[in-house]
Amino acid sequence: MKRYAKNDFAAPMYVCYTLCMTYANIIVNISHDNLDKTFQYTVPSHLEGTVSVGDYVSIPFGKGNRIINGYVLELTDRPAYDPAKQKEIVSIVTDADLVETKLLKLAHWMRERYGSTMITALKTVLPVKKKVKAAEQKTVVLKVSSEEAIDCLRTCEKKHQTARVRILQALIEEKELDYRLVTSKLNISPATLRLLSEQGILSIVHERVYRNMHVEEGRSEKPVLNEEQKVITDAVLADLKNDIHKTYLIRGITGSGKTEVYMEIIEAVVAAGRQAIVLIPEIALTYQTVLRFYKRFGDRVSTLHSKLSDGERYDQFERARKGDIDVMIGPRSALFTPFSNLGLIVIDEEHEPTYKSDTMPKYHATEVARELAALHHASVILGSATPSVTSYYEAKKGNYQLFTLDRRAKEAILPKVEIADLREELKSGNRSIFSRTLKAQIDDRLTRGEQVMLFLNRRGYAGFVSCRSCGHVMKCPHCDVSLSEHKGHKLVCHYCGYEQSSVSECPECHSKMIGGMRAGTQQIEEQIKKIFPQARVLRMDADTTKSKDSYEKILSAFANREADILVGTQMIVKGHDFPYVTLVGILAADLSLYANDYRASERTFQLLTQAAGRAGRGERPGSVVIQTYNPEHYSVICAGKQDYEGFYDEEIAYRGLLNYPPCGHLLAILTESISESMAADYARHLAEYLKNDIMIIGPADASVRKISDVFRQVIYIKSRSVEELQRVKDKAEHYIETHPAGKIRITFDLDPVHGY
Ligand code: ADP
Ligand code: ZN
Ligand code: ZN
Repeated sequence: MKRYAKNDFAAPMYVCYTLCMTYANIIVNISHDNLDKTFQYTVPSHLEGTVSVGDYVSIPFGKGNRIINGYVLELTDRPAYDPAKQKEIVSIVTDADLVETKLLKLAHWMRERYGSTMITALKTVLPVKKKVKAAEQKTVVLKVSSEEAIDCLRTCEKKHQTARVRILQALIEEKELDYRLVTSKLNISPATLRLLSEQGILSIVHERVYRNMHVEEGRSEKPVLNEEQKVITDAVLADLKNDIHKTYLIRGITGSGKTEVYMEIIEAVVAAGRQAIVLIPEIALTYQTVLRFYKRFGDRVSTLHSKLSDGERYDQFERARKGDIDVMIGPRSALFTPFSNLGLIVIDEEHEPTYKSDTMPKYHATEVARELAALHHASVILGSATPSVTSYYEAKKGNYQLFTLDRRAKEAILPKVEIADLREELKSGNRSIFSRTLKAQIDDRLTRGEQVMLFLNRRGYAGFVSCRSCGHVMKCPHCDVSLSEHKGHKLVCHYCGYEQSSVSECPECHSKMIGGMRAGTQQIEEQIKKIFPQARVLRMDADTTKSKDSYEKILSAFANREADILVGTQMIVKGHDFPYVTLVGILAADLSLYANDYRASERTFQLLTQAAGRAGRGERPGSVVIQTYNPEHYSVICAGKQDYEGFYDEEIAYRGLLNYPPCGHLLAILTESISESMAADYARHLAEYLKNDIMIIGPADASVRKISDVFRQVIYIKSRSVEELQRVKDKAEHYIETHPAGKIRITFDLDPVHGY
């Protein structure tokens, strides 16, 4: 009952004073299409306070009052119709430990925490039921000996048949590969496969045959874990044995062996008859990663990704429900895999902003994972080279158990990092996008036939205005965020609405070279072609990766050394290892530093550290050049030294001072409408209604004021206590319920990962 006490804060007038949830909305047949078909029953006094959302209950149904079971979807104090005519719940089915119950409880928790209707929350956790013709699973198998395959590979190499080279290389290593992975991730066309099959080099085998074969062949050998890795697995496995469930955070640089640690622990979880979910950011869900899990766990693994149809997704979830798989790998939505006895959730690269949902309810995967783990008495492992400030803060407070992996498992050499001060370059007359040191080093790599990655940090491309002579950035005097350039010669703060007119001269050094940053990857590609005409250049950004598989295609072309230079956005940071890349250039480290967002330094540090980590992954030592107008900024300096602790200390002091997450919490309420005045009026009234209880910032135009002709207003509310923000959210929901917003869309975002 305590849970509902918030209601007397939200709207004392509307709430029954006994605060009892007397009515239960019950669903009999739980599926996407039926979510609005609920039946209301009265909670009898002997069950009051015992029934909760998600419970499986017995009810008298229909004219004959036949006793059937259903799930409690919602509890409410408002009867939907005459209470005298309502039937009563008979009992709670206590021996039913059902997956659905846990998912419903999870949906309820998400709805309460992040704000959305129960139906929207349920649609997030329940898969769309759509029958598909069972897609046949096929496998590509090598039919000739390794020696013959190598001969064939040599011939194909001479003829520059790169697709054949790719599939042969993979088959020589693996002997058998999942058909779908071959066509999608390796990007081999069915025609090529048919051709090689006709030549008798490989064959395409159907699922059932493949399964039997797999068991006979056994699984791949695993490496002997090093001391650092053992410390982690010993501790976690001991906890598992003693039925202790925690959240662990592994901070370990890329290549330090985190994935091996996850797999070792998953193996123990599976051996104990339980299941595991592994979350990987979509962009890192590459063929190589997935294959490692297939090799270790065979066909008891399944993967989800955004390109699956609803039907294919549903099939994967059904396999999980039936107990046909033990491990599900996928992006954040894989959390909702209906495993009956979940033992472990791993979240790799846990700092990635994609773990935050961009639709309502705007949940964060880490928080949901912890809630889900609590429902299942399971554990959570978070891993990252650059943990989010939030997770590290939790670890420091003792809420997570922290482990570190400091060495690369294969003892590769860490790259040498150099910071190039672009202000100095300008002073000495160099106006090119390349500093002298970066240009010299690119020349050197081209001569030696090694590869270069050039990374343009484009996050925060929101039109911030900076001085090219001294690096000064136009900032809001009240908020410590950069101002954004708006049409009509205005500079605007998106946090408080502060406005001033544009400047034509730097207020610091009076240089006229002040303006919005505008360099894109395309311009950079053109520049490279001009400066290094001999180089073969590939570009990867949102434009070149629109079509299906183009991401993998570009990466495999680069891995096959079909180009010397790869230029791209943060996309190039992830995925493949490129042993021939010995130079990484970060062209404009500052572009994310002044995004109008309190996490800007964190994002910058993470991107720089990860980009730097791409150099020297093979036998050759690598170097990194970070070009910046802010060589003294702590996120740049610490990234250069790969000094996470140093960065964290600076950053947490700043967050604490300003009460930003994780030291405080932030709730954003966004109102959107095709009518600018309607969005603004509604936001203003809502803010007015809320402001008696708490300090409100705004409403103000969102940083992107209009998207597809929809105008957006944003209200920010800061508090030390997340519970307080939840009460404000409940109160806002109440306001919305009683003041229908019509065609205005309202979104809640607790601790947003991006500014609005
Ligand atoms: P991370 O997940 O931290 O990036 P991985 O687990 O992928 O690191 O390990 C990087 C590489 O080192 C992989 O090729 C992996 O197989 C190998 N590796 C990891 N641990 C060991 C070990 N104990 N002995 C030998 N090789 C290892
Ligand atoms: Zn200046
Ligand atoms: Zn401001």
